[in-house]
Amino acid sequence: MAQSQAPAPNTSSWDDCFVPDPRYTFLYAKKRMACIICKENELVFQTEMRACDDSDDSIPVLLPCGHVFGQACLENWLDNPNPACPACKIALVYPVCGHNIQSRPLYEDTIFHVPKTIPEGGEINASCEICLEGTKHNVARQRWDSLVQVLAQAEYRLSCCDPNNPLGTEACRRHVEDIRKLMDEVVEQTMGPRPRQW
Ligand SMILES: [Zn+2]
Ligand SMILES: [Zn+2]
Ligand SMILES: [Zn+2]
Repeated sequence: MAQSQAPAPNTSSWDDCFVPDPRYTFLYAKKRMACIICKENELVFQTEMRACDDSDDSIPVLLPCGHVFGQACLENWLDNPNPACPACKIALVYPVCGHNIQSRPLYEDTIFHVPKTIPEGGEINASCEICLEGTKHNVARQRWDSLVQVLAQAEYRLSCCDPNNPLGTEACRRHVEDIRKLMDEVVEQTMGPRPRQW
């Protein structure tokens, strides 16, 4: 095909690697571009299955600012204590937890799962996914633990209820039921709904 004989695309200005909507650039416009760090390797948009190596410079990787680079070159570039985008210098650390923001490789089969870039309305979270999950889990766990104690007390009171006083027994049983429901609500509010599908 004539296309394969065409010279490597000329990526010479930082603007050439600005890809605010990678779906448009790679899936629709099928723009050819080279890694702007080495100005050598052509970025190849392919399926994840076909990509052989994890740090292959032909794999385009996206940063939240919308800049795209070859994977190997960007990894080298970011290997320092203050990682920042080579083009716009945006700091690539989460403001609260301080962990590094990871670039997202762009593959045909996963491009629709890549978050929106900042110019398209995307946002950088305060903390990375792992830290956010950890915080949510801790909050849920603390509230669950305090409810466990309340439930144990309520169950104890239920066991002491006078069986000849059905009103008292019924009230205690409803109280226990309410606490159980509250435990589920607390977890759902904090961690999201429990999955139903296996
Ligand atoms: Zn490169
Ligand atoms: Zn940038
Ligand atoms: Zn973190």
